[in-house]
Amino acid sequence: MSSSSNIKVTPIQNSKIDSVDFNNLSFGTVFTDYMFECEYKDGEWQTPEIKPYGNISVAPSARVFHYGQAVFEGMKAYKDENDDIFLFRPEENFKRINKSSSRLAIPEFPKEYFMDGLAQLLNLEKDWIKKGKGNSMYIRPFVIATQPAISASPANEYKFMIILSPAQAYYAGEVRVLIAEEYSRAADGGVGFAKAAGNYAAQFYPTKLAHEKGFQQIIWTDANTHEYLEEAGTMNVFFRINDKLVTAPNNDRILDGITRKSVIQLAQDNNIEVEVRRVSVAEIKEAANNNTLLEIFGTGTATVINPIIGFSHKGASYDLPKIENSYASLFKEKLTNIQYNLADDPHNWRLKI
Ligand code: PMP
Repeated sequence: MSSSSNIKVTPIQNSKIDSVDFNNLSFGTVFTDYMFECEYKDGEWQTPEIKPYGNISVAPSARVFHYGQAVFEGMKAYKDENDDIFLFRPEENFKRINKSSSRLAIPEFPKEYFMDGLAQLLNLEKDWIKKGKGNSMYIRPFVIATQPAISASPANEYKFMIILSPAQAYYAGEVRVLIAEEYSRAADGGVGFAKAAGNYAAQFYPTKLAHEKGFQQIIWTDANTHEYLEEAGTMNVFFRINDKLVTAPNNDRILDGITRKSVIQLAQDNNIEVEVRRVSVAEIKEAANNNTLLEIFGTGTATVINPIIGFSHKGASYDLPKIENSYASLFKEKLTNIQYNLADDPHNWRLKI
């Protein structure tokens, strides 16, 4: 990818890379040598910078701390056997962060800065990206309102940043989920479709209660009736009933997941029927009871495909059968082969850096 933005780079003195044990990474705790930063002030995004990773100075009155005016993205870079680096559908993340920003009255970020910032940052940190399926560089772009003024209105100063954290394959263990009966992740007309920081904070408490009851995640239901299944934890969710896949349609409560839309496309490519429609709790309970509910899995950038082995609702527990040739493993294989440049890429999802 060629780069046209005029990004100022401040070099590091010493790299931290030798102090990192790449075989024992705890997700999201180790960050690379550099970070990308761009300030918004005087009505425009200023010249972006790449500088040594470190603490930032923000006034205690910055609006992000008081009103949560903040959005973020989650994406990954992968290295193939020839040391080439690839992003997976990065334009989708670009579009989504601006959609999130618009909903929170944050000014949209220029595409050229986003794409060039990613490319330059990843090029500088090439050595931090390890080869081999499962290894990746987790990329966290985010925007925060920095204007030092505690009035409840949109800020006129922001910081857009990108930080990088090396990651290994993530195995979530056996995942059992609790179907939400009381709490909701998002409401009609709200911000569920945006990657707004506050959405995640609001999930922590109900998720903590679910952990205490022995469940790893919550399947969120619609806020009005709690009768329709929407997302699993911070993933989109698919149900396999016989050989057909069903997943909820996007709406203003559901994040438009990039893994979700890729799985729908791959299913179509592989002649697997997908129905994008509302899925009721009653339907999956009935399917579990008559043994036609074969799989449930979550989809997201961090884990790719996350199989769910059972669920609970109103005190009743349901276990899914252990099956050979699961769709979960088929899609994980197909997606990761594309991401790691091990297979053809018919939809041009890979972007070489
Ligand atoms: N839903 C929510 C609420 C999420 O935070 C994420 C992670 N970004 C997803 C779904 C999955 O989206 P993606 O496949 O784009 O990572």
